[in-house]
Amino acid sequence: LLQLYSPLSFFGFIYREIKQAMVDMERMFELLGQDREVADRPDARPLRVAGGQVEFRDVRFGYDARRPILKGVSFTIPAGKTVAVVGTSGAGKSTIARLLFRFYDADGGAILVDGQDVRDVAQASLRAAIGVVPQDTVLFNDTIRYNIGYGRPEAGDEEIEAAARLAHIHDLIMAMPDGYRTLVGERGLKLSGGEKQRVAIARTLLKNPAIFLFDEATSALDTHTEREIQANLREVSQGRSTLIIAHRLSTVADADEIIVLAEGRIVERGRHADLLAQDGVYASMWARQQERAPAVPAD
Ligand code: ADP
Ligand code: MG
Repeated sequence: LLQLYSPLSFFGFIYREIKQAMVDMERMFELLGQDREVADRPDARPLRVAGGQVEFRDVRFGYDARRPILKGVSFTIPAGKTVAVVGTSGAGKSTIARLLFRFYDADGGAILVDGQDVRDVAQASLRAAIGVVPQDTVLFNDTIRYNIGYGRPEAGDEEIEAAARLAHIHDLIMAMPDGYRTLVGERGLKLSGGEKQRVAIARTLLKNPAIFLFDEATSALDTHTEREIQANLREVSQGRSTLIIAHRLSTVADADEIIVLAEGRIVERGRHADLLAQDGVYASMWARQQERAPAVPAD
């Protein structure tokens, strides 16, 4: 896991810039090498969020015109449902997340949120409707309250506490002598990977987006953290449109639909049990991951 507490070695010199810009993960994605900027249309209107339905309609995209990455991808996340995208590294999974966030525009096809083409709406309104919960959460050397609330500086103590309760982090915070004023980091509250993610979940809940987006990092997690994160995810995705970009199949077993992406195309789709029964790409990926990660005793 990236340790992004002070000294924030990964970000180094841009740390201050990041903090100043009051960056949340969305902005972080941008700083991590998004080069092509998309601009709002002059007549762009705010997204009108209904239930948070997401539709990819025959989406084609390449970072470079000579190398297509998505070659006609179609799927729908009905309002409140969960769709997971799996596939080998480089298949184009994170690209799907970036396109939903409109870091890039599709070269063909369309991406619709509640029936509105993302190219027609104001970016700020689109991004406000999508909550990103990263696996490796960036926490600042500041109070836990700041870390939960910084995405919405105007949030009051009660709102912050409510979000922390929903994210199951409130009790942990209250057990600290300084409560919400406890400093996070090396000399303060040290959080496990799963706990850091709960802070991120609390942040996201405070934002109250119609759509949740989880993009799993490739980094290896210990089994305990992995299970914590799975449980967090399952709970928070209840009743919200959720897109999970997953590397570990254990994370997606209860998704409403699993999409298997290979070289920019959907090669299989269905629920976990159906895909296992098909005995195809997903089933063999599953078998491989089971070998690598044998069942652990309950703790
Ligand atoms: P996945 O998440 O499935 O591992 P990605 O969607 O991140 O894959 O990447 C799909 C392909 O696009 C990869 O071959 C990757 O190298 C390429 N790619 C990703 N981001 C960029 C970028 N900013 N510029 C050029 N190529 C990229
Ligand atoms: Mg990825």
